[in-house]
Formats: sequence, C-alpha cells, structure tokens
Amino acid sequence: MPASGTFGLLRHSRLLRRNFPSCLSSWKIPPHVLKSSQSEALLKLKNNELSCAPLQMFSDEERMMQEVVKKFAQDQVAPLVSTMDENSKMEKSVIQGLFQQGLMGIETDTKYGGTGASFFSSILVIEELAKVDASVSLMCDIQNTVINKLITKHGTEEQKATYLPILASEKIGSFCLSEAEAGSDSFALKTRADKNGSYYVINGSKMWISNAEYAGLFLVFANVDPSLGYRGITCFLVDGDTEGLHIGKPEKKMGIRASSTCPLTFENVKVPEANILGQIGHGYKYAIGSLNEGRIGIAAQMLGLAQGCFDYTIPYIKERIQFGKRVFDFQGLQHQVAHMATQLEAARLLTYNAARLVEAGKPFIKEASMAKYFASEISGITASKCIEWMGGVGYTKNYPVEKFFRDSKIGTIYEGTSNIQLNTIAKHIDAAY
Ligand SMILES: Cc1cc2nc3c(=O)[nH]c(=O)nc-3n(C[C@H](O)[C@H](O)[C@H](O)COP(=O)(O)OP(=O)(O)OC[C@H]3O[C@@H](n4cnc5c(N)ncnc54)[C@H](O)[C@@H]3O)c2cc1C
Repeated sequence: MPASGTFGLLRHSRLLRRNFPSCLSSWKIPPHVLKSSQSEALLKLKNNELSCAPLQMFSDEERMMQEVVKKFAQDQVAPLVSTMDENSKMEKSVIQGLFQQGLMGIETDTKYGGTGASFFSSILVIEELAKVDASVSLMCDIQNTVINKLITKHGTEEQKATYLPILASEKIGSFCLSEAEAGSDSFALKTRADKNGSYYVINGSKMWISNAEYAGLFLVFANVDPSLGYRGITCFLVDGDTEGLHIGKPEKKMGIRASSTCPLTFENVKVPEANILGQIGHGYKYAIGSLNEGRIGIAAQMLGLAQGCFDYTIPYIKERIQFGKRVFDFQGLQHQVAHMATQLEAARLLTYNAARLVEAGKPFIKEASMAKYFASEISGITASKCIEWMGGVGYTKNYPVEKFFRDSKIGTIYEGTSNIQLNTIAKHIDAAY
C-alpha cells in the first residue's frame, strides 16, 4: 500500500481502479467498504460488543511498554550491537539500561520493586528488543519468563522479599539445568546436593548457562537423592559469591555472541536449607513449568529477530537498482517477500495466542511448543532469505543481516530443540485422537 491511513486507502483504491482491466470493472470495490468494515469492528470493540479482540490489539499498558522499549532499543542498544557482537561482550550500559527502564522485573509486583505489568507485555518487550539485538533480548527474556517467574510462583515470602527487588533493580539471574550429559534429557542431570545439618552441599557441573558471566544469582537444579531418579531433583537459590561456585570461560559461539554462555562447576558449595526453592524433589516440575512459558519468550525473541531483519532488508531492495529497475519490483522477488511476510504474521499469531492463553489461565503447552518451533524455523528462513535478497552486501559484516542469520540458529536449540517441541506437539495429537 503506497501510504497509510484513510488518505492512503483512498489513494490506493483510486490507483487500483485506474489500473483495472476493463473486463473486471464490475468487480470494483468502492473504498468505503474497506473503510467502514474496519471502523465498525473497532466501534463494536469499544462498546464491548465483541467478546474477543483480535490478537494484535493491545491494551494501553502493552502499547506503552512497546513504545518505551522501542525507544530504548533504538537509542541505547542499536549503536552498540556490532561492537558487542565482535567483542562477544554485553556492554554494561545496556545491562544498566535494562534495569533502569524496568525491563528486568516486568511482571514482578510493584511491592517488590517490579513494573507490575502483564506476561503479554514481557512478550512484546522481548520481541521489540530482538528486532535490534537477540542477545539483549535473551537476557531480558530469561530474567522475566524464567527466573522471576520461578521465584514468584514457588518462593517463600522471605525469598521473594530478598530476591525479587534485587532482580528487578541490579542482579541478573541464571537458570542452571543443562549438563554435559543432560541436554534434551535434562533430568539425567548428575549434580548432587547432599544434606549436612541445616545446609546442602552441592557438587557437580553445568553447561551452557546463559548470562552466567554477569549473573549474581543462580537457580541450580541438583538431585538430593539419585535413588529417586528425577523425583530427587530440587531447585536451589545460589548466590553468585558462594564459595566453591566457579564460572568457566564463555563459549565461543556462532551467534548471540554478546550473551555469555558458560560452564559452571560446584565444589562443595554450601547452600542453606532456606534457599531451597519450593519443595524438595519438585525441581523437575518447576523446570518443566518454567520452560513451557519460557518457550513463548524464545518464540517472541525469534519473531522479533526475523521482523528486525525483514525491516532492515526491504528498504534496501526498494532502493537497489538492477536491469534499470528496483530489485523489489521484480515479481519473482515480491512473491518471496510476500511469502515470508505471511510466515512472519503466522509466527506472530502463534506467539501472541500462546501468551494470551497463559494470561487467561488456559492450557497452552502445545501452543507454546508450536509457537517456539514455528518462530525459530521462520526466523532462520527469513534471515537467510534477507541475505539472498540483499545479494553480496548481505553476506558482509557491513550490514546486520548476516548477524541476524547467525543469531537465528539458536532458536532451534535452546529451551528444547525443534525436535523436542515436535515431540510435545505429537504427544498432544496422540492424546486428542
Ligand atoms: C547458547 C546456548 C544457551 C543456553 N542456555 C542455557 C541456560 O541458560 N540454561 C540451561 O540449563 N541450558 C542452556 N542451554 C542448553 C540447551 O537447553 C541445550 O543445548 C538443549 O536443550 C539441547 O541439548 P543438547 O545441546 O545436549 O543437545 P542433545 O540433547 O544432545 O540433542 C542433539 C540432537 O538430538 C535430538 N534429540 C535429542 N533427543 C531427542 C528426542 N527425544 N527426539 C528427537 N530428537 C531428539 C535433538 O533435537 C538434537 O537435534 C543453552 C544452550 C546454548 C547452545
């Protein structure tokens, strides 16, 4: 469409009419049909006559959060993205900015210093950040959809009062489940926690722990009684400065390079009994529960990444001239663009729907897996296509699309690989028929 708003619609329809083949003249659609059907829907919504709002209709709070984070991402993150990627380091100013903007305690109750906003708002924030940088988006995602959520849901009042305010204002939390031999099969974890008086002593190691380099709190899953199998898995709140906790060197990665991913070792790490999160032996349930919601966060991250890459590429191909016309004007290319835009829209609807289901307290596990699976696949394909559409320059580091492409791959791996999402979806199908 050449221009937006009512004026744009009118102009567009006049142009359409001028270019119509005469044999189709009786099919002409007068502009007011489009206009009135849209405004009628909005009117009904205002009068609460529609029971369900369209998925892309946001509350004032959600829209405001989206605007705030968009500005933050453009002003404070965008100028640092390529340096952070090159140095594999998150800039301190970015981390501080996330806290200052209230983006590290989005759903946390205001009585604990949080923003007190909705789960859907955090999904919009994650998406918006990923349009600019997937690593920054991941930091915000894990803090909100996993760490804060786990403590809010399962913490004692004392744990909430101790940890939620610092997580909203200054401390990053890491989620420590995976181990060298426990990836997709995460409950095969070997890290032990042995009771000794009023303490537990943790020994073992973890792999792939996001944000570990910057974290001040670690949510560690360890088995208190391996004879019970996964029913011995318990979650411990471990302060970053606890003796015996060693953070290894960050992995050198293909993408999300500014996000630190480290191995951890635990050598006789003493944790007071009071730092058990929730109930002993319920860690596996908490891990599954938090990853189910976390997956919607990853879907939002992948969606934002794909949209950011797309938004960068389209203006370029609308300017690039080959064979005497804009590259965008070749229909072969337009069809590819339209196809990707449709896939992106579908990923957005899956993601928003899963988030709305969480908020409505409805079953959402299958939908969360579908959203993560689809958004991850789509972000990889979108970024790959964007490189192709930009040609040679898209393949260079002078433009951000190659970084979007590298960053996109992780979506198919963490918080459950694509195969694991498909297993979950298939399980639901099996149960339903
Ligand atoms: C950058 C990064 C950040 C991460 N951050 C964290 C973090 O913060 N905290 C944390 O705890 N973990 C984290 N992880 C770990 C991540 O969750 C695991 O890598 C992931 O679960 C996959 O495990 P794996 O790497 O051992 O692969 P594997 O489990 O070895 O999988 C290898 C392949 O086998 C397939 N496969 C395995 N089982 C099945 C099955 N049942 N059916 C079909 N296919 C199967 C997989 O789909 C995959 O294709 C991170 C990983 C990375 C790379």
